[in-house]
Amino acid sequence: MKKLLFIFTLSCSLVYSQDYKVEKDRIIDLFENLKKFGVNENQGNDRVAYSDFEIQARDYISKKLEKIGAKVYTDFAGNLIANYNPNNSNLKPILFGSHVDAVPNGGHYDGTAGVIHAIEVLQTVHSENISLNHPLEVIVFSNEEGGLFGSKALAGKINQQTLDVVTVSGYTNGEGVERLGGNVNRIFEVKRNMGDIHAFIEMHIEQGNNLYSSNTDIGIVEGIVGLKWWDVTVEGFTNHAGTTPMDQRQDAMIAASKFVLMVNETVNSYEGSQVGTVGRISAEPGVPNVIPGIVNLSLELRDLSSKKISMIYNKIIENSKIIEQETKTKFSFSPIDATGDPALMDRRIINVLSEVSDDLGYSSMLMPSGAGHDAQSMALIAPTAMIFAPSKDGISHSPKEYTDFEMLEKTNNVMLNTILKIDKIKLD
Ligand SMILES: [Zn+2]
Repeated sequence: MKKLLFIFTLSCSLVYSQDYKVEKDRIIDLFENLKKFGVNENQGNDRVAYSDFEIQARDYISKKLEKIGAKVYTDFAGNLIANYNPNNSNLKPILFGSHVDAVPNGGHYDGTAGVIHAIEVLQTVHSENISLNHPLEVIVFSNEEGGLFGSKALAGKINQQTLDVVTVSGYTNGEGVERLGGNVNRIFEVKRNMGDIHAFIEMHIEQGNNLYSSNTDIGIVEGIVGLKWWDVTVEGFTNHAGTTPMDQRQDAMIAASKFVLMVNETVNSYEGSQVGTVGRISAEPGVPNVIPGIVNLSLELRDLSSKKISMIYNKIIENSKIIEQETKTKFSFSPIDATGDPALMDRRIINVLSEVSDDLGYSSMLMPSGAGHDAQSMALIAPTAMIFAPSKDGISHSPKEYTDFEMLEKTNNVMLNTILKIDKIKLD
């Protein structure tokens, strides 16, 4: 049986010998080195955007990439870019990368895994002397965790207000960009347009439990979900909690409670992977002996389709009218400006990712991304795709974030061979 398996493995490796492979030892080496910049006593990662830790990590990456012959620079928005173009091609570049900033006490994989993948792709192309048509560009985006800052700058989606936002490190985006070596006075010049980039690919850990729980190697992202937020106010009647009989109350809290459950049921009543959440609630006056007259809640809906978000929202409004009647209260909804439109990934690259995963003998799954990523901004200006590696138990933004190196080796092989394939195809 063992012998049979050996022959089978051998024949597979012969069949797939045209595929290049990354080197796991180099992945481990990059991981261990990058971890040093920001590791804290909980074994978490404090490499927040614009911190000294981030600057040190980027210096380390720059040196590594310069060594293999890339031209490394920081653009005006603080994105670190390594251009690798040994053949002096004047075709549009293929970009790939992610971010190295973390949330406070975050993990060592979110963002960083994608940067490691990007560096390893370049290391493999260089060491295997692979000849490509397009220039390759590794990109390390600035301040991803604080709202996709660097990639939004590339997509032309930042303004003066964005520059004044104070980030977790205490620096504003404007100050932070200068710390990274950018130039805030020329920041709007970094904008790239549709047609400037051949393709963009980002690898990321899933940060959810779909891949890990189903034992799947590769997540191929169909799109990054859009998100809409609303403030919801329930108006009842403030009254004495001791003297008002139960059948004469206009209790906003009762209406709000029904609303929370109704949102959950409504979202669940549709087929698909949409999600809906009430994450915030407060009652006025908010004391034990007064029937709440006002309750404020939030409502969040996410899906790959804006149309579906609107459809579910309309159903929630309709169902709220029933609660209004039952509880003699009044609901009002006002949109919060935190809206993100869904970003669909490029079908052609999705197909290549899926072919390459099959060729390499890895299991893969098409899935939406519930979390926001730089690929979301990049999809506005380039054919864009994303792949996910499994996150152990779906944990992320935590020191417990974990993906084993065997898994990262697989996603890295898929990313490498996908880049080699899309180098040969027309995408515009
Ligand atoms: Zn991330």
